[in-house]
Amino acid sequence: MNATAARFALLGIDDEVTVCDCCGKKNLKCTVALSQLDADGNEVAVVRFGRDCAARALGRRRTTAEKMELEARTASAAALAAGYRVWPRRTIGEGWGKMTAWVGDKHAAVTTQFHQGDIRRNLDAFVGGPWRYIGACPRAGVRVFVRA
Ligand SMILES: [Zn+2]
Repeated sequence: MNATAARFALLGIDDEVTVCDCCGKKNLKCTVALSQLDADGNEVAVVRFGRDCAARALGRRRTTAEKMELEARTASAAALAAGYRVWPRRTIGEGWGKMTAWVGDKHAAVTTQFHQGDIRRNLDAFVGGPWRYIGACPRAGVRVFVRA
């Protein structure tokens, strides 16, 4: 492990911050939130890097921007999905598109069997949105959304 790889830890995705704290690049699709660590592993700051800069900071030399984003989305979704079952259960959609959603104050979860676009449309129409996709947590088997 090189020195750079030891100084950051992955936190998750940030769709609201679109400027890289590392190189200053603007108008990015999203940023990756990283915990900046000191030599003892204590967090000294939270930074938001573009996908390429984040991959480099984490020492993921062979990771593409898409894979870095997916990893960050999964990390965010996993953190949020930990408590989704206590969110009120609702049925959204009609007919064959009917699905069960767990809808919290700011977040919602629906099983990964449904496509994210279909879920978002149903959340917008039946719960009131707009909703934005965060990512999927394979362990909990749900896709997680945030009220934008
Ligand atoms: Zn950058």
